[in-house]
Amino acid sequence: MEFISQLRHTFASGKTKSLEWRQGQLLALKQMLEENEKTIYKALFDDLGKCQFESHVSEYGFVLKDIALFLKKTKQWAKPRNVKTPLLLQPGKSKITPEPLGTVLIMGAWNYPLQLVLSPMVAALAAGNCIVLKPSELSQATSNLLADLVPKYLDPNAIVVYEGDVAATTELLKQRFDHIMYTGSEAVGKIVMRAASEYLTPVTLELGGKSPCIVDDNTNIKVTADRIVWGKFINAGQTCIAPDYILVTPKQREPLIKALQLSLIKQYGHDPKQSPDYGRIINDRHFQRITGYLNGIEDKLIVGGQTDAEQKYIAPTLIFGPELTSPVMQEEIFGPLLPIIEVASMDKAVNFINDREKPLALYLFSNDELTIKKVTNETSAGTLSINDTVVFMVNSEFPFGGVGNSGMGSYHGKWGFDSFSHLKPVLHKSFFADAPVRYAPYSGWKQKA
Ligand code: NAD
Repeated sequence: MEFISQLRHTFASGKTKSLEWRQGQLLALKQMLEENEKTIYKALFDDLGKCQFESHVSEYGFVLKDIALFLKKTKQWAKPRNVKTPLLLQPGKSKITPEPLGTVLIMGAWNYPLQLVLSPMVAALAAGNCIVLKPSELSQATSNLLADLVPKYLDPNAIVVYEGDVAATTELLKQRFDHIMYTGSEAVGKIVMRAASEYLTPVTLELGGKSPCIVDDNTNIKVTADRIVWGKFINAGQTCIAPDYILVTPKQREPLIKALQLSLIKQYGHDPKQSPDYGRIINDRHFQRITGYLNGIEDKLIVGGQTDAEQKYIAPTLIFGPELTSPVMQEEIFGPLLPIIEVASMDKAVNFINDREKPLALYLFSNDELTIKKVTNETSAGTLSINDTVVFMVNSEFPFGGVGNSGMGSYHGKWGFDSFSHLKPVLHKSFFADAPVRYAPYSGWKQKA
């Protein structure tokens, strides 16, 4: 692929290493977003029926906030970082010098089709890399828009948008990169990692899985329900960190279900299909996949269950007590269905989670210090969020990423800068005061040492 040689050539020229170039590209990206705000909202609406508020908060505004942070911090993060030098290496100085990796590939998923490619790109640009950007072909409007806009605003010799389906991506993955960052499913994550191994290319894998949400006896049930409903049904449940299912104590079961019902009405009205704030499913395949989960569990539905294939609409749906062997409890739902499972105690909730793959996010609603301590110490997850759902994403001090099957590596803020950098240790010794004790021959007292 000719364009990759071009990117390598650009990187070798050293152009992307200068702070001016990096900041210039970040400013150009900011300009691209600001001058095309309305067109971006339209593309996101065409792909996912996303309303403007959601598009602003979780995509457009999210990336702008990232750019502002990197514009402020890149100079500092790119500087050599002084570290201590042990006595044995004195006189000398030790520094860690971040250097760009080279030409990196960023592959995004369709559910947040702008944010999931541009947010990693901000970090990769700030770190001084050349970039191939591969948006998901499933979110076609956003992919087309990025392919149109990026070359108009950013340095075309250093950043290329590559569009295409699975066959085209398979070809792309045969190329050599210096890093690959992939956001998407576990199955494709394995394909990416296999392809990367050909050249020992390091990977960051931002994957998914089932993110549990525990509701304890001791909570503010109204706020709990509002926060679960928002985190689950934003983007019609197509969010990698959406609560996938709820684990609730017997005492809290009825109050929680009632509060969730009320919150759904409050947020999306009696008929969510008419709500301008409720999204649609990305395509027919995913619509069939999600509605398929409802087959055979119709008697478990408490709320929702209505669907409209033409509009790719699936109502926010609450399910109580599905079999743990049913597909809805075996696979990542990635849609607006919320199963609720009763567990006898917090011990049982912890065991439930530990019996399964490590989740990308784990949510706990509790005011009880012992429960909070227990869940924090006895479970593992990409992120643990106590008393709220998906909003932890906006804290750029947090590394965002999974653990185990939910992913490897992380980004956001400085974590992203470091992921797209090699943190090169540089030891600088002085010729002064050379101590010859370490040199051969190791005779005399050295043999006894
Ligand atoms: P997707 O189908 O859009 O695939 C993502 C990327 O992989 C696309 O660029 C696509 O072209 C490419 N791709 C797909 N199949 C391929 C193949 N066979 N070979 C090579 N490349 C291929 O997205 P998806 O996989 O449906 O995404 C949904 C998953 O992503 C969910 O599991 C979700 O939890 C996860 N996700 C994770 C995050 C995160 O930040 N951790 C964010 C969003 C989504």
